[in-house]
Amino acid sequence: MPTSPAPPPLPRDWPALIRSWAQSLGFADAAIATLTLDEDSAHLQRWLAEGRHGGMAWMAEHAALRADPARLQPGTVTVISARLDYRPSAADAEALLADPEAAYISRYALGRDYHKLMRQRLKKLAERLAEEIAPHGYRVFADSAPLLEKALARNAGLGWIGKHTLVLNREAGSWFFLGEICTDLPIAATAAEPVTSRCGSCTACLDICPTRAITGPYQLDARRCISYLTIEHHGDIPEDLRPLIGNRIFGCDDCQLACPWNRYAKLDATPDFAPRHGLDSARLIDLFAWTEADYLQRTEGMALRRAGYARWLRNLAVAIGNALANPATTASAATSLVAALQARAAFPDSTVQSHIRWALTRRPAADSRSPCRCSD
Ligand code: SF4
Ligand code: SF4
Repeated sequence: MPTSPAPPPLPRDWPALIRSWAQSLGFADAAIATLTLDEDSAHLQRWLAEGRHGGMAWMAEHAALRADPARLQPGTVTVISARLDYRPSAADAEALLADPEAAYISRYALGRDYHKLMRQRLKKLAERLAEEIAPHGYRVFADSAPLLEKALARNAGLGWIGKHTLVLNREAGSWFFLGEICTDLPIAATAAEPVTSRCGSCTACLDICPTRAITGPYQLDARRCISYLTIEHHGDIPEDLRPLIGNRIFGCDDCQLACPWNRYAKLDATPDFAPRHGLDSARLIDLFAWTEADYLQRTEGMALRRAGYARWLRNLAVAIGNALANPATTASAATSLVAALQARAAFPDSTVQSHIRWALTRRPAADSRSPCRCSD
């Protein structure tokens, strides 16, 4: 009997396949972005012109590249935006923020630095594209080049840009990292239109921001943002902002914690992002006692390493100063914190020294927490 001819190949839905390949590699989602970035580029230019990037000069240096991925990777006609969720199972954030003697570290920085993991997974995804679609020229990015990655994620349909300027997803909130593959494979965009904002009349992130860094909807002044001040900013932290930093020693999550869309965010079980060294429940005094060798050994492979030891101590000194000024700090704890500051007063870094001096001034002169016993 003659065999019937094979059916024609089914038309391939590349975006759906790419999403499934990405998910098999551990991404929460991946989608193809349109490259319409003119408005976002104009927004960036205004932001830079107003100096809101603070000391992040590299942002201004590469501003022109951001609007055109083809200038970063010649031949790029498609950008795949990928989402990697990271919300770890960790000690309750609100309870930590309310405890002046506790050290608050941004949720994303409690575990392994995501950059290497993101790049590895993006490369595997790009290789899968080469096997399944066609050999291609590509480059992967994990916060490593001047791309308008939030705008690309929005254009890909991964979410909308919230009033706090982070990307928000209906199912996942904002607890995720973004990465990109720029490729010369022409693949149709996943979403016909970018996701529109679902912030509505909510202003929770603006209202909660301790330093009023979100100066209006979709307007962030990095110079006031605690994430910038504790991670990117070198030198002195402006004195008027120090009391507002509270016990946040590396980054800040307040605008994400307040966002109602994060109620829907699931915990991520990626072992790499699980808290290391008990850093989700660490005490200021214990971290301040770390030697440089301790710091280098314990932060290996973590984003925390970016601060460097001197900035780590600077941030801790600010948080300890705030603990001293907080009536909830017990008298015995205050005494120990003062002793810890004094023990480091000669640390060979003028910024650390000046922040320690500032912190020591924060203890109330007549400390009502230390009842006077002279009349006993
Ligand atoms: S990270 Fe903190 S300081 Fe920065 S905008 Fe959000 S709430 Fe404000
Ligand atoms: S807190 Fe409200 S306004 Fe801010 S990003 Fe979330 S939904 Fe939007």
